[in-house]
Amino acid sequence: ASRGDVSRRQHAHRRVLVFPLPFQGHINPMLQLADVLHGRGLAVTVLHTQFNALDPALHPEFTFVAVPDGVPADVAASGSIIPIILAMNAAMEASPAVRDVLASVLADDGQPPAACLFIDANLLAVQKAASALGLPTMVLRTGSAACFSCFLAYPMLHHNGYLPPKAESQLYTPVKELPPLRVRDLFRTSTSDHKMVRKVLARASETVRNSFGLVVNTFDALETAELDRIRRELDVAFVLAAGPLHKLSSRSTGSSLLREDRSCMEWLDKQVPGSVLYVSFGSLASMDGGELSEIAWGLANSGQPFLWVVRRDLVRGSDGPGLPEGFDRAVEGRGKVIPWAPQQEVLAHFAVGGFWTHNGWNSTLESISEGLPMICMPHFADQMMNTRYVEAVWGVGFELEGKPERNKIAKAIQKLMNEREGEVAREKARELKKKVVSCLKSGGSSLLAIDKLVEHISSL
Ligand code: UDP
Repeated sequence: ASRGDVSRRQHAHRRVLVFPLPFQGHINPMLQLADVLHGRGLAVTVLHTQFNALDPALHPEFTFVAVPDGVPADVAASGSIIPIILAMNAAMEASPAVRDVLASVLADDGQPPAACLFIDANLLAVQKAASALGLPTMVLRTGSAACFSCFLAYPMLHHNGYLPPKAESQLYTPVKELPPLRVRDLFRTSTSDHKMVRKVLARASETVRNSFGLVVNTFDALETAELDRIRRELDVAFVLAAGPLHKLSSRSTGSSLLREDRSCMEWLDKQVPGSVLYVSFGSLASMDGGELSEIAWGLANSGQPFLWVVRRDLVRGSDGPGLPEGFDRAVEGRGKVIPWAPQQEVLAHFAVGGFWTHNGWNSTLESISEGLPMICMPHFADQMMNTRYVEAVWGVGFELEGKPERNKIAKAIQKLMNEREGEVAREKARELKKKVVSCLKSGGSSLLAIDKLVEHISSL
């Protein structure tokens, strides 16, 4: 029997529960981790909120349980992640519903006994409910190690005067405790309410401190120093770098909240290798109509083939792409616009040669995994920090600073796709991809991390 068969038999009597935060960038890695654990023979139950509810039909191998989340309709409709996280936790803490659901899941003797619950770091309310029932929790951090290390340092950053920034001029001050970050690279949100952010980050740190261990969706060679920093600060049984999870999981699709437009794959098949710029700003970022128009004309004027994801709600206050007049004609045969892409497949396609991204952590990691250089246009949260690492640490891309403007955009696209600076970034991205391949090989750091994780789960 192969090693996999033995391991599957050993663990078939155990179950893990997973509870992702209901946003795309958090759902994807959690379900990928669930898939990896399922592949090691563990049964999986997915708990999910009614807000952004998951579709059980897409994952017949898992059991699904819906949990009332109590997010008020107006907060849910705002689409603002920080207020939604706070409202969801407050409602869950005020009601016995989560505890009741967990208790009934644990009591279900038609299923193998639950060893532990994997939660998103933003679900402290769920951590507390599990703890009250004696169920150990483990946290999956869906951001980078640098980002979580910054969460842990947040009180210090306030204490040492970096936050909240007092003036524009302070934005480029280096944070000497967390090199190579500058004040502008620290966690930021669309709300200017630092108290609210501080609360969310403190709660995320508490969730991890209260848990048995931490898994980070990164890999050792990418963030060695940042992982060490976390390990020094946390007193938990393990801090494991087990990413990029999408490369370990057998399924690359199936957790999209939006329907993927697969017509782009045939379109890509017809393009010249390495010629297409893929453009996407993730699941949450939004902009105004003027910014969209500048991006559209920047793409048109660049002369480069492109595939651009324009979500229906990308432009604030509109319901549809709202592309400028004449744009379709200007890019006919050279550009394609779709509402949502099978992104991981797109990035792995031979025709794609670069990624213009908002640097959400998943997008960043997915780009690195395919050896693609990036144009970075961070919007909020940890995206500025990811951009800083892309540019100053890994050298696999550069930032497009300031408001989008068509001439600046066209030049940046040329630089990435056809000039020396882009070539240097591409070369470094290819080198990083080799490190991804080796961490995923037998004996590689991320595979070993999964082995250790499975051992920990079995020991509970
Ligand atoms: N994604 C996708 N199709 C798209 C755009 C994004 O499947 O058209 C996926 C992408 O592969 C990534 C996730 O959505 O896994 C976005 O997560 P990320 O952390 O990059 O950004 P967020 O949406 O959280 O800002």
